[in-house]
Amino acid sequence: MLKLESLTVCYGAVTALRDVSIEVEEGELVTLIGANGAGKTTTLKAISGMLPLAGGTITFDGRKISGATPRQILALGIAHCPEGRRVFPHLTVRENLEMGAFLRRDQTAVKGDMERIFFKLPRLRERIAQIAGTLSGGEQQMLAIARSLMSRPRMILFDEPSLGLAPNITEIIFEIIEDIRREGTTVLMVEQNALAALDMCDRSYLLETGRVVQFGTGEQMLGDAHVRRAYLGG
Ligand code: ATP
Repeated sequence: MLKLESLTVCYGAVTALRDVSIEVEEGELVTLIGANGAGKTTTLKAISGMLPLAGGTITFDGRKISGATPRQILALGIAHCPEGRRVFPHLTVRENLEMGAFLRRDQTAVKGDMERIFFKLPRLRERIAQIAGTLSGGEQQMLAIARSLMSRPRMILFDEPSLGLAPNITEIIFEIIEDIRREGTTVLMVEQNALAALDMCDRSYLLETGRVVQFGTGEQMLGDAHVRRAYLGG
């Protein structure tokens, strides 16, 4: 479904990704793991059209998307749920959700989707008129996820959905993401917690200093000596 071939991405003189190739099949949950600065966020930003490529190509359903704008990529069905609390802090919960649907014309369907989200995440319904910046960290993360669902994407890119959250809230967030996948949306997720990321994925890629150094099923990665030593505490 999504294919990254030999991507190179630079920030000025800094090469953040070098020759990165990654594939995600329809219906899969694939994770990107690696230390701080390995290039995980850069990979997601390159996919969603926020960064230009210095080399390589990205295709989605066989169609080249590298070079397209973020808006065009969203319209094709790839939503980006960014790192941390990137909700619109001065807008209400409802307005944030409406922003997620800004490309859609069918307002009845948009309302229906909002209802479905509120059914699944009743906490957001209770806070529908609350200013997003005053929500707790976990609620803001839920809102960010809900906002990305509002475009009815076929694939969602999640950037560190557990960042800064307490373990019990993290568990809820991961359950929401697994639900999203179960309902048929393909997921590519960046996650620093390697154990959780390998536990819940179909397949995973390990990035180190801008290169893919290992990949495999969650099980294969959990059993890999290098992965165990460097990322799972031996
Ligand atoms: P983190 O978990 O810390 O976000 P990451 O694996 O997502 O790490 P990236 O944020 O993709 O890593 O960063 C990859 C490399 O690119 C790092 O060396 C980083 O310092 C560099 N980098 C990222 N953004 C910029 C920028 N705007 N300008 C210059 N260098 C950048």
